Amino acid sequence: MIFRLLSAITAACLAFAGTAHAQGKAELLWYSQAAFKLTTPGGKVIMIDPWIMGATKIPPELKDLGKIGKVDLVLVTHGHGDHLGDAMEIAKTNNVPMWAPAGLNQWLATLGMMPANLVPRMNKGGTIEPFPGVKITMVHAEHSSEMILKDPATGKNTSYPAGEPVGFIIQLENGFKIYHMGDTGLFGDMKLIGEYYKPDLLLVPIGGHYVMDPKDAAYAAKELIKPKMAWPMHYASNPFLRGTPAEFKAALGQTSIQVIDAEPGTKKTF
Ligand SMILES: [Zn+2]
Repeated sequence: MIFRLLSAITAACLAFAGTAHAQGKAELLWYSQAAFKLTTPGGKVIMIDPWIMGATKIPPELKDLGKIGKVDLVLVTHGHGDHLGDAMEIAKTNNVPMWAPAGLNQWLATLGMMPANLVPRMNKGGTIEPFPGVKITMVHAEHSSEMILKDPATGKNTSYPAGEPVGFIIQLENGFKIYHMGDTGLFGDMKLIGEYYKPDLLLVPIGGHYVMDPKDAAYAAKELIKPKMAWPMHYASNPFLRGTPAEFKAALGQTSIQVIDAEPGTKKTF
């Protein structure tokens, strides 16, 4: 009898915990640029390219690392400041691994800027399963990766190599697949990535100059990757990133791809 009562209480508690995010669904909060907070259907929190405190287009109420809450994993696509951002701080505060290109993490460990256990190495083509049912694969991105850090010996800002830039395919517990492209130009193997991984949601840079412009991004989505949904990112945060979601939609033309034209700070469930 007591056992039954305890079971009922446990079940009720679990049900309550499940309401923190829409049950059985993933939740995605866009900070700005390439920064997202992903809550998986199982309740795990993954921060991707968390550039927050220095970000230019982020809603002021989100500019607070203390408001992020618990984080279970951090992903970084490359070493540029608008992607590496606050990742190290978040990983250390939560004592959770920060997965980034192997060469980036190697430098952070070598310089003593991150504890080695929080900067494990993986590389393009590799897949990790950090939580049951959640699989994360590193894929190619056509970009560069260096990082500017204060040299611990001289105290001067120094540019370090940071491995090769990557994107991530994130498969959730319910089978939903997100392709975070990182920063990238257009490349032919996007077709291979689309065919092989079949992402449902594409997080796609559209700003131009450093990454694809709206026309490139529309071609990538419509002709190569063919996701169900596309969420434009990495635009308007500096004067060079001129591409707009309106141009992206115009370049897509007639399509079954649902475009999520959102302001920074928008939260969506999938
Ligand atoms: Zn970059």
